[in-house]
Order: sequence, then C-alpha cells, then structure tokens
Amino acid sequence: MTTLDEILASFASLAGDAIVIGYRDLVEDPEAKVLWINEAYTDLFGYDQAEAIGYGVSMVNDPAHYQDFLASVVPRIEAGGRHISAETYCRTKQGKSVWTSIRIFLIPVEGGRYSAAIYRDLNALKQREDAAEAALQERDQAIREVELSQDRLLTALNGLEGPFAIWDKDWRLVVSNQSFAKSLMNRKDMLAPGTSLEDFLNLAANSGLFEDAVGREDKWAAASADALRAGPIRDITRFTNGHVHQAISHRTPIGDTLVIGTDITELESARLSRESYAQQLEEAHKIAQHHAYHDSLTGLGNRRFLNEELARLSDILRREGGRITALHVDLDRFKQINDTRGHAVGDAVLCRVGDALQSLVLETDTLARTGGDEFVILRYSDETQDQPPRELADAIVAAFWRPVTIDGVEHRVGASVGIASTDVSDVSDLLTDSDIALYKAKSLGRGRARRFDKSDFLEMAEMKTLSDDLLRALDAREIVPFYQVQIDAQTGRPVGLEALARWRHPKRGLMTPDRFLSIAEDLEVVDRIDQLVFEAALRECIDAFANIPAPSLSFNISHKRLMSRGVLTAARQATEYPGRVAFELLESIFLDDQDEATSLQLDALRDAGVGLEVDDFGSGHASIIALENVAPDRLKIDRRLIAPINTSSRSAGMVRAIIDLASALDIKVTAEGVETEDHANILRALGCGRFQGYHFGRPEPLSDVLQIWWPEHARRVASTG
Ligand code: C2E
Ligand code: MG
Ligand code: MG
Repeated sequence: MTTLDEILASFASLAGDAIVIGYRDLVEDPEAKVLWINEAYTDLFGYDQAEAIGYGVSMVNDPAHYQDFLASVVPRIEAGGRHISAETYCRTKQGKSVWTSIRIFLIPVEGGRYSAAIYRDLNALKQREDAAEAALQERDQAIREVELSQDRLLTALNGLEGPFAIWDKDWRLVVSNQSFAKSLMNRKDMLAPGTSLEDFLNLAANSGLFEDAVGREDKWAAASADALRAGPIRDITRFTNGHVHQAISHRTPIGDTLVIGTDITELESARLSRESYAQQLEEAHKIAQHHAYHDSLTGLGNRRFLNEELARLSDILRREGGRITALHVDLDRFKQINDTRGHAVGDAVLCRVGDALQSLVLETDTLARTGGDEFVILRYSDETQDQPPRELADAIVAAFWRPVTIDGVEHRVGASVGIASTDVSDVSDLLTDSDIALYKAKSLGRGRARRFDKSDFLEMAEMKTLSDDLLRALDAREIVPFYQVQIDAQTGRPVGLEALARWRHPKRGLMTPDRFLSIAEDLEVVDRIDQLVFEAALRECIDAFANIPAPSLSFNISHKRLMSRGVLTAARQATEYPGRVAFELLESIFLDDQDEATSLQLDALRDAGVGLEVDDFGSGHASIIALENVAPDRLKIDRRLIAPINTSSRSAGMVRAIIDLASALDIKVTAEGVETEDHANILRALGCGRFQGYHFGRPEPLSDVLQIWWPEHARRVASTG
C-alpha cells in the first residue's frame, strides 16, 4: 500500500499545478478534509497551509457550480473510476472566480483511500479560447464581409461599362469583370482568376476585335504584353466595331496592376468632330483670309494685299537699301468691252489679263488687282536686278496690243502703264505717283508706258481741278462747237464742216479737247459734251445755212453717246438741217467691236438719214471684212498717215491703197491733217475726194468760218442780224 509520503513524492514533480490531498474522498465522506496543499495551491487560491488543512477538500469550489461539479464527478467515482477529470469554477480567497481543470486521483491506502486533486488555472487558457472564439467569430464575420464586399465589388465591377482587371505581380489574373471578357475577347464567361497575361492577350488578339491586331495577332499580343509589363499605359484602343477605348493601367503599392478601359467612342467622335470643326474653322478662316487679301475674280491679290506687301517691301528697303518700283496698269478699252459685250465677257477678259500679267512678272514681284481694270505690280530690286521695270512695262503694253480671244471673239483691250520708283518718289507716294504716271500715259494717247515725273504731279493736280470744273462747265454750257472746213478736192470749194468741241473757260480761256476729253471720259460725261456740241451746232447751222446750199455737217460721236437714246433723238432733229448730217465714229468703235447692239444702233441712225463716217481710219485695227459689213458712207484717213505722204512713197502707197479699197467698196474718202499744198496735190492725184486740215483752215467759231468761206453770205447775215 502506498503511504502519504510516497504519494507526496510522486506528486512532487507536478510543481506548478496546485495540489490538494484529502483524507477520504467526497463519495466516502462528503466532509473529507484537506491533509496537504502545495505552494502552487497557495499561489492559486490564496490560502496557506494553516488556512487550508483541516477544512473540506471542496473549500475552493465555487458554490454556484458545486452541484454541477458533483453531478459530473460523483457518478464516475461511484462507477469505480480512479482517475477523473472535470472542469469547474473555483473561487480564490480574494473572491476571484477561476475556471479550473481538476484531475482527481483516488489513491487506495491502508484502511481506506486518499484523494488527490490537481487544479490547473484555465482562466488564461479560457481567455485565450474565448479570444480564439471571438477571433474565429471575427474571422467569420470578416470572411462574410469580405465575401459580401467581394460580391459587391464584382457586382460593381460588372456594373462598369468598360473592361476592368487586376493582375498580380506575376501577371496572373486576380479579378476581372464581364466587360473584360466581352469587349476584349468576345466571350460571355469571365476569365478564370490565375489566367496568365499572355494567355489572355492571345485570346484577345484572335478575337478579331482589335483593329491593330488583325493580321498580326502574335506581334500585337507580344507588343501589348511588353507595354503592360513596362506599364503604366494610357492608350487609345480602336476596335473593329468602331468603338474606341482609353486603356489605363495602374500599379498598386503591393505590386498588382489594375487595368481599366473606358469607352470613349462618343467623346472620341465628339473630339474628332471638334477637330474637324476646328479644321473647318481653320479652313474657313483661311478662305476668309484669302478673301480678305485676294480678288475673287482673278485670284490675284487685292488692294489690302498690295498695301501689306508695300509695307513689307519698305521694311526691306529701310534695312537693306535697293528700290521699289510700282507699275500701275490700266486697260485702255475695258469699259467699252464691258459695256458692249456684257459683264461675263468683261470678267473673262479681266481673268485673261490677270493670267497674262502673271506670266510676265517675276516670281518675286507682287501683282494685285486694285480696281475694275486696274492692276498694280510691285517690284523690289537691289543692285543686281535681272529685268529693269521699264522692260516689264513695255512688255505689258506690247502684250495687250495683241487681242484677247474669248469664245472665239477677239477683244482689243490695250494697256497703259504708269511707273514710279523710290528713286524719285517717297515710298508713301509710290502708288499715287505711279497712278499719276498712268494718267499721264493715258492722256498722251494710251497704249504706252510712262515714268512718273515731278511735273506730272502738277499736271495731275491740274487735272483734278479741271475735272471739278468740267461738271460745272457742262451746266454752264461753256462747251461750244468750233468748225473746221472740209474742201472738195476737185473744186476747192467748202463742202463740209466738222463740229469740234471747245471749252470756253472763264479763266483759262479757250481749251481744245485734248485738255478735257479724257477727263470727261473718266467722269463719263463725254456723251453730254457730244450732246451740247450737237445741239448748239445744229441750231447755229440751221440758222446760218437756211438760204444757201448747206455744207455737210459732221459730229464726233463717243461710244457712250452712240449707245444712248439721245443719239436717235439727235438723228431725228438732224433732219431739220438743210444739208447732210454725218456722225463720225472712231475706227475702234466702228469696226472693232461689232456686236448686235452696235449694229442695230448704226442701222437706226442710217434709217434716220444720218451719214456714218469712220474717223481716224488707219489708226486702229479695222479689218477689210468689218469695213464691208458696216458699210460706212465715208472714211476719214488719220492724219498720221497723211502727214508723211509727201516725203515717203511707202506712205503714199498705203494711202493710195486705202483710197482704192474704199472706192472698191463704194465708200467716199476724206483726208485729215492736210497741212500743205503738197499734201493736197498728192491726195488729189491719189483720188481722194475731200480735204480737211490746217492748210485750209483751223477749227474756228462759225462766224469766222462763214467770214472766210462764205463771205458774202456772212455779210448778209451780219447786216440782217
Ligand atoms: P478728230 O475728230 O479727228 O478731229 C480732227 C482733229 O484734228 C481736230 O482736233 C483738229 O483741230 C485737228 N486737225 C485738223 N486739221 C489738222 C492739221 O492739219 N494738223 C493737225 N496737227 N491737226 C489737225 P481737235 O479739235 O483738238 O479734236 C481732237 C479730237 O477730239 C477730235 O479728233 C475728236 O476725236 C475729238 N473731238 C472733238 N470734238 C469732239 C466732240 O464734240 N465729241 C467727241 N466725242 N469728240 C470730239
Ligand atoms: Mg472727227
Ligand atoms: Mg479724226
């Protein structure tokens, strides 16, 4: 049998656990008393040996749980169990509740048995367990929450219209959404987590969705993988279905890569349309700019363009020296063409002229159309100029001697050129001065180039005053007819009078047409001059020649006058004159521009009984065919052809040819500018019928002409008047 000492010795090794040994056990003796406790018991429960020994072994059991404890332990002891374990609440001396495991050993000894109980504080364990339990619960909660938030995330991700995926740092798929499968691989089912980037890209490449991948799938997949791995990306991806995505990748702090695509098709098309709008705007701006600086008809620069070019060139001039030359080009007979042939033909002529000028100027020249039929060329030249501006001017004049053909019809525009250069003029006066030179060129007879001269300026100022004056003069009837006599070549008798306009200026005295006719043309009042001269002359001559054989009376008719209603009224009034009345038309009007309107008007005049004469014949380009068509009554040979006939047999031959031609066509001939006896003799021999010229008399007032040529009659008129 075992002694207490033996028992104690066998428990000695169990230091750390609280041990109590009691005599008898609770079944044998519910009042069993404590025989011994160890130090750990004191440490755990607070009772020392003095306080514990002799008390009931169950002294530390929590009374609240004691019945439960007995209920669990007693039956096992009664069943003969020698080694029983239980757990229950105990109480320390200080009243603290301790969850304790109790192992009860029943030890038979002589005369009965001892019980030994080993208590182990389970509080700490219990706490750990509780903590573990709580942790477990927390974990479950967390898991539930994670699951929930994952669901939510996935729902949210699937709610995203664009594709979304997270790749881990080894480029295996963590999560993706439906759009990712649908729009990048054309699949319904989502890509399994763990799929490698390469596998995904191969699927995507072969989906036929990616515009760039079609036909080069492998290359595209490889390039895309490289780009993603190199990351971050921010790419525009175009799909074959017309959609456009912006793909963005983002590396998270833990090494994942988040890839998200946003459908920007609409934005993109808005951007494109914005761009194309901007382009259109730009385009419109360019066009507006072009319009602002160019003439819409010819496409050449306009006045504003010219001014800017001049400013640019004068900068160069200031910096580098050299000179700027301005050439002012004006078409001599454009107005006429425009009036008679219509604006469409006029426009076509201007375009042709623009082209012609363009082909004559240097590439570095500035060419602009500054007005109806007015063009300006600017040329900057340093010392090493290839072509002097004068040559260009002459080339232009020569070019427009040749007719411009529109729809098979030839039009003779003719050009005059005014030249001014910074050698003489200030830059700021350049355009005015070239214009003045142009004016001068025109007043000298057109079809020529003229360089600006300081004296031209004064003349121009004079012109300006005169043109203001002329309008007043018309109202004041200061324009009056003078008469130049025409002589019959055979009889030497006066047979005709030509009425020529004179301006009786109150301050300047008597002025001839060369001083005011071109001004009148610019002012477009030549027809009023014609009318004044006609009305006054007709009145005077009806009076003067009422009782004697009346000479023929001829009037110069401008193109404007010819095409007016007034000329037909005049033709009717002319029947009151006892002699023949003739209208002289310049060769250019008469024969060059034969159109329907002019022909009708000429027929109407002929019907009214007015004779038609071609003035200055030989000065222009009239063809023999035109002459035959128009069938005038008389040709007046230009005095420039007559002047040399006494010195040049060639000239005489030419005049003879004209006279012969006229006679063949049954047209009578007057020679103008017969200045000498010689002239008269030669012309008579050539068969010319009528003479007009200084040799017989200058243009004079009617009374003077009467005095010289109808002296008796003049005396009669004077005595009766
Ligand atoms: P035109 O019709 O050829 O008239 C003849 C011009 O030659 C006149 O000049 C006359 O003075 C000038 N003349 C006449 N004989 C000689 C001569 O022997 N030698 C020279 N060197 N000249 C001679 P005028 O009066 O100065 O007229 C010039 C031109 O003005 C006219 O040339 C005519 O085309 C135009 N003209 C004159 N009066 C009128 C008019 O009332 N209406 C229109 N539309 N034009 C007119
Ligand atoms: Mg005349
Ligand atoms: Mg003449």
